[in-house]
Amino acid sequence: MTTDFYNLLLSDCALAAVLLALFLYVGRVSRGVRGIATWGVAHFLYSLGAAMLDGTAQTLVRAGNESLADGIAGAGGVLACAGLVGLAWSIIQFVQQRALALWERALLPLCLGFSLAGVALGGGVEAQGAAMSATEVIVLLVMVRHLFALRGAPDHVPARLMIVGCGVLLWLYGGDLLAALTGRYGPNPMWVNLDLSIWFLLNFCMLMLASFRAAEPLRRGALFDPLTGALNRRGLDNELQALGTRAAGEHGLAVIVLDLDHFKAVNDDQGHETGDRVLQRFSDVVRGCIRSEDLFARLGGEEFMLVLRNTQADTAHALAERIRWQVMMLEFAPAHRNIRVTVSLGISFSADRHAPCETLIRLADEALYDAKHKGRNRIEVRWHPA
Ligand code: GH3
Ligand code: MG
Ligand code: MG
Repeated sequence: MTTDFYNLLLSDCALAAVLLALFLYVGRVSRGVRGIATWGVAHFLYSLGAAMLDGTAQTLVRAGNESLADGIAGAGGVLACAGLVGLAWSIIQFVQQRALALWERALLPLCLGFSLAGVALGGGVEAQGAAMSATEVIVLLVMVRHLFALRGAPDHVPARLMIVGCGVLLWLYGGDLLAALTGRYGPNPMWVNLDLSIWFLLNFCMLMLASFRAAEPLRRGALFDPLTGALNRRGLDNELQALGTRAAGEHGLAVIVLDLDHFKAVNDDQGHETGDRVLQRFSDVVRGCIRSEDLFARLGGEEFMLVLRNTQADTAHALAERIRWQVMMLEFAPAHRNIRVTVSLGISFSADRHAPCETLIRLADEALYDAKHKGRNRIEVRWHPA
């Protein structure tokens, strides 16, 4: 044990205290998001407990004060195990956004049991080292299992970094557990820098995940239509830009523009609120017919658009027909039983991988215009090139 090593643990505790304040603040700002403040508190308890066990207790052993060393090691082990379980709880709550299940709560008595058994058996630093290392291994496995669920953008990048970090820690702590069980437990300056750096990384990624989650309602508000949940124009533009030249895919690209027929009459006869309800039911029908990768946007009023990647012309036509039919069959609540809604659809299609999306949108608009003029509640198609 060197003074440098002890100072490192103390500065780690100081940093954990600052992070605690930061996580409490972020937790307060992202109202309603579970698990953020829990991380700050748990990480602080873990850092404090580990510093007592690996720092203070070891220094006391070297000074020959065994009984005080055992007491500090016992208290440190209990704090570290409780903090570690808190970290696992935080990840579960954050990823799943739900209350903890019974077996997840049972992690606390289980892991505290390791440490308390060490105290009861008078095992001192070795026993607490084994208890903390065993808890670290269990907690990291639980964290990795839940972090795998964060697959979507933008969460996937910090989540994957955390998984890699946890993997390295599992390797370090697995070795530590073996050392403790074979009576060779002790601070290892060789890997302590790696260990602490990885915990910085985990904290950093956790803050990133928390701020992504806090900004999610703003992001959704900027890109999605609140009434129907479809993308708004900006959201559609963003998605199309992100797709770029990959928009067509292997089979081609289809664009469908959809416009409800005589919708003004629904508003005039039944009121604006009923009109809103019709727009929502219509959007639900469309969503029920498309794949998760298809883009569905509300262009304004009662006009919508579908961008179907990697789709053949026949498939796009069949989809349009299914939507037209299901909209015509829509039933409304008894008070509005006499409402009948129909939709006109204009489709454009190109088998060319490099067909510009803007051209297809213009063609689909022209096709919709034809459908309206030919009597509504129908589908018209324009090919590209014509
Ligand atoms: P057409 O068959 O030619 O498309 O006729 P239409 O009546 O559907 O088209 P028009 O463009 O004349 O009217 C669209 C109506 O959509 C007018 C407007 O009051 C209504 N509308 C636009 N946005 C909303 C909305 O968010 N909620 C409700 N309830 N109505 C809306
Ligand atoms: Mg209309
Ligand atoms: Mg319209």
